[in-house]
Amino acid sequence: MLHADVLAAQALLQGARPAVVDAHSGTVRTYAELDRRANALVRVLRGRGVGPGAVVGWVAFNRIEMIEALFACVRLGAALAAYNPRATAWELSRKLGLTAPACVVVERDILSVLGRVPGVLRTDWSDRLVLDTDGLDGYERAIAGVSSSLDASSDASPDATAAILFTSGSTATPRGVRLPQRMLAGNALVTATSWQLGRDTTVAIVSPMWHAGGFGALLLPTLTAGGRLVLLRQFSAPTFWATMRRHEVQLAFGVPTLWQRASAAPGFADARIGGVRWLLCGGAPMPLPLHLRYRSAGLLLRQGYGMTEAGINLCTSDDTECREYPGSVGRALPWVEISVCRNDGQPVVEGEVGELLIGGPFVADGYVNAPPETTATFGTDGRVWTGDLVRRDEVGRLWLQGRAKDVFVSSGFTVSPAEVELALHECADLAEVAVVALPDPDRGEIGVAFVVPAQPPLVAPERLREAVRERLSGYKVPARIVTVPTLPRTSSGKVDRRALIDSMAPRLDG
Ligand code: AMP
Repeated sequence: MLHADVLAAQALLQGARPAVVDAHSGTVRTYAELDRRANALVRVLRGRGVGPGAVVGWVAFNRIEMIEALFACVRLGAALAAYNPRATAWELSRKLGLTAPACVVVERDILSVLGRVPGVLRTDWSDRLVLDTDGLDGYERAIAGVSSSLDASSDASPDATAAILFTSGSTATPRGVRLPQRMLAGNALVTATSWQLGRDTTVAIVSPMWHAGGFGALLLPTLTAGGRLVLLRQFSAPTFWATMRRHEVQLAFGVPTLWQRASAAPGFADARIGGVRWLLCGGAPMPLPLHLRYRSAGLLLRQGYGMTEAGINLCTSDDTECREYPGSVGRALPWVEISVCRNDGQPVVEGEVGELLIGGPFVADGYVNAPPETTATFGTDGRVWTGDLVRRDEVGRLWLQGRAKDVFVSSGFTVSPAEVELALHECADLAEVAVVALPDPDRGEIGVAFVVPAQPPLVAPERLREAVRERLSGYKVPARIVTVPTLPRTSSGKVDRRALIDSMAPRLDG
C-alpha cells in the first residue's frame, strides 16, 4: 500500500537525525520531532472536525509547520490545500470558495487579508491556527498541551487526496489539482532513486512550497530519502549563496528567473566551492545562455520537467547528458508512461512534434469541482494532456517545442514561439525572451517578441530582426520586437503572456 506517510518511516529508522532547518529562524527539527508534532496536530485537527476527505488550508511562506500540516493531513486522510500567501483577498476568496477548508493554518500577517474574504473566518476561532502568535488561536499553543501518540491507526490511504495545489495556468478560473497519496509517495521514491538522494543529501527549498516546484520537486523526495532540508522563507538574492554555503546545501530547485537573479548575486562565482552538486531549473524553458553561465562557474544547471497534474517530476537525465544536451528535459522517469500524440490521441511518427500525454501511477485525480476542465485535461483513459509540444528523439529524450495553446498560425503556417525564442537567443546576448501572438487582419496572427537585453549596450530591434531573419522562415520572424527591462511574471514565476499581449493594445491603437 503506497500511502504518503514517509515521515513515520523515517522517524522509526533515523528519528534523531535532523530532517529540516528553518534558515530564517534557525529552528531545527529531527525526524522524530516532526513526527511527534504532526501527531499532535492530528489530534488538534480531529478535535476541530477534520477527518477523511476534509480540507485543511495553508496560507503562509515556506515554514516547517507546512511539513507537519501535510503529514497530519496524510494521517487523517485529509488534504492540505496550499494557497499563495501573497494572493489578494479576491484571489484567495475564489480558491477558498472552491476548496472550502475546515481549518486554515495562516501566517499572522496574512490574517487581515483572510479577514477581507467574506465568510471564511468564523468568530469562535476554531477554524484557524495562527503562526507566530501567543494568542488563543495560536498554532504552538494548540499543539503544545496535546499528546503526540496516536491512539487510532492512521487513515493514510493510497487514493486519498493528500494535497491540493493550484496551477499557474492563465485561464480565468483557478484550478485546484487533487494530488493523491500514491502519486506523491511513488513519485518521491522514484525521484529520490533516480537523482541519488540519500541520508547525507542536503537540499535547499527556496521556491514557494505552495506551488508544485517547491512542494514536490525536491522536498518530498528528500524526506523520502531521509536527507536534510533547509527552508528559505523566500528567495533573497543578496544572501542566497551565503545561506547555501552556511548550510552546506548540495541541491536546490528554482524557476529560470530565480537562477537568472542568483547568477547576478554576490557569491555566485564561488558557489561551486560551497559544495553545490547540481541545481534544478524547471517550470519554464531554461535559456541556453543561463545554462552556460552556470557551467562557466563550474555548476551544473539541469532541466527539471514536471507539472502539477502529473509527476510532479517526470523526467531525468544523468550528469553527462545534462551537459551534452542541455536543451532536452531528459527521459521519462521509471513508471512515467509517455506518449507523443496528435490532437486525436494517436501517436505521431517518431521524431515528429506532438502533444505530450502522461499516464501511469503519478497522474493526479483531476481538478477540484471542475468536471469539464478535468475531462479536458485528464481525458477518459487516465492520461493527462500536458498541453506541451514535444519531440522525442531516437533514444527517448524529450525536447520541448512550446505549448500547444501557445502555438499560433501566421499566413497559414504553424509557428512555435519556443523556436522563435531560441533563434532570438542565438542572435544576441539576451537575458530573456517571450514571443506572443497578436491578431492580424492580413496574416491571421503575427508574432511579437519581447526581449530583455542581458547587458548594455541595448539591442537594436531592427538589427535583431535582421539577424533572426537568417535563421527563420519569413512567416516565423516576429513582426515587432519590443525591448523591455523585465518580463511580467505570474505568481509562480512563469512569463505572464496575457500581460504582454495586453501591453501591446495601446501601441496598436496608437
Ligand atoms: P505547473 O504545473 O504550474 O508547474 O506548470 C507545468 C508546466 O510548466 C508544464 O506543462 C510546462 O509547460 C512548464 N514546464 C515545466 N518544466 C519545464 C521545463 N523544464 N521547460 C519548459 N517548460 C516547463
